[in-house]
Amino acid sequence: MKGKTHAGMGIVTYLSIYNMLPGKFNYMGLLLVAFASILPDVDHPKSMINKYVLPFKNKLTKVILYGCVGVTLIWYDYLYTHSPIIKAIGISFLIIAVSSHRSGLTHSLTGMIIFSFIVGYLGNMYNIHYLVYYFMIGYGMHLLCDMVTNKGVPLFYPFRSKKIKLPLTYRSNSKVGSAIEELLMIFGLLFTIYRLPVIFYK
Ligand SMILES: [Zn+2]
Repeated sequence: MKGKTHAGMGIVTYLSIYNMLPGKFNYMGLLLVAFASILPDVDHPKSMINKYVLPFKNKLTKVILYGCVGVTLIWYDYLYTHSPIIKAIGISFLIIAVSSHRSGLTHSLTGMIIFSFIVGYLGNMYNIHYLVYYFMIGYGMHLLCDMVTNKGVPLFYPFRSKKIKLPLTYRSNSKVGSAIEELLMIFGLLFTIYRLPVIFYK
């Protein structure tokens, strides 16, 4: 599934259920949902985030760049900060460095828990306790959407590496797949237009 479609699906989900969330509607939530929706694909050197992050879009650059940032953070923490959050962020960079596309931690529930822990911790630091909800909506939707494609995701990695998918799937790189994703996008845009007035009505 394309990054755009993931971001769109995350935003549509957020617009459908924000009333049930503690923070209701806010722009930071919207941005965080969109970010979390594309984050799992950071394991692919040509994905949306890496398009802006990596100077060269290949696997080696990804491993070196994320690996160096991770090691630097952990080393810095060891020397100066001794803070669990810097350690956790450093470890996350290392995880991203070694995860190959769709077969590692970023496409698993364990990965979702580690990243959500970091966001929750940061949210509490800045007194925005509901931050983690938005993150989990985006991230969870990404995993769910990938489970609708024929490749599936290693949901229970590192305990089981079997790829899990839903009973009904489609091939994301096929003609039908592109058509389905385009239809989802159109539906998403129409739904956003439908929800827009409600957001501003208080
Ligand atoms: Zn994915």
